[in-house]
Amino acid sequence: MELITETEKMKTWTREKRANGMKIGFVPTMGYLHQGHLSLMKYARSHCDSLVVSIFINPAQFGPTEDFKTYPQNLDRDLELMKPIPVDMVFNPAPEQIYPDGFQTYVEVAKLTRVLCGVNRPTHFQGVTTVVAKLFNIVRPHLAVFGQKDFQQLVVIQRMVKDLNMDVEVVGQPTVREEDGLAMSSRNVHLLPGERKSALALSEALKLAQEMARQGQRTAAEILRAVKKHIESQPYTQLQYAVLVDPETLEEVEVIEGKALLALAAVVGKPRLIDNAIITAY
Ligand code: AMP
Repeated sequence: MELITETEKMKTWTREKRANGMKIGFVPTMGYLHQGHLSLMKYARSHCDSLVVSIFINPAQFGPTEDFKTYPQNLDRDLELMKPIPVDMVFNPAPEQIYPDGFQTYVEVAKLTRVLCGVNRPTHFQGVTTVVAKLFNIVRPHLAVFGQKDFQQLVVIQRMVKDLNMDVEVVGQPTVREEDGLAMSSRNVHLLPGERKSALALSEALKLAQEMARQGQRTAAEILRAVKKHIESQPYTQLQYAVLVDPETLEEVEVIEGKALLALAAVVGKPRLIDNAIITAY
């Protein structure tokens, strides 16, 4: 496994791989890896000749009052976790490599970014699409793998790739969970024991909604009432949103027909956590 910190060196490496006809897989991350990240890497590994993982805590996707300064990081730990995959190249640039002096160009997906997380994090997705577009230009992958845990991010990136005719296939992979159901997240490390227990309410609420749908409930308002009640009944949870939306347009639905995405966001203690599931109408 090699490690590159400079953009130009990364571009040279990928140029050589491409010239040799290799298919490049790419998993962008902010580090502090867990099994969720590793599952994306395993998928990319099995579909490509060469695997690049970026570790970059992207300042542009954090709001001024958010957790950029306290976001967990440990490069040595990450490198150890990636060894068995195995990863060919780790791209770990300093912020100045990505946002040099004079930087002033941003990528914005207009509509899909205004809803769900976009309401509480109005500048977040512009930061995400800008850095992902830049990483795609630097790494030039054939395949890029993202987690469905960040469902809105995946939909936004797929839209960007389509709208800007980017030559990369974007694939989403299922959310990896702890044994008790909590969606894995780098931010979980900041949950205190009581908060960790309360955080379970998110995945429990998803199961509750699935079960209501299985029993024939298709009215969004009814399902959301039960979901909100369950999450808000826990100590330490501040629900930001619970919505049922069309999985492609992210527009809210009143009645579940076919499939709908139940998306949740809550602040639990310090960390802000998100989770989601596709709810199927019976
Ligand atoms: P992050 O490091 O949080 O920016 O995440 C990097 C990638 O890992 C994104 O595509 C996330 O959607 C994905 N990811 C994060 N948590 C999980 C999880 N629990 N299961 C699957 N993928 C995940």
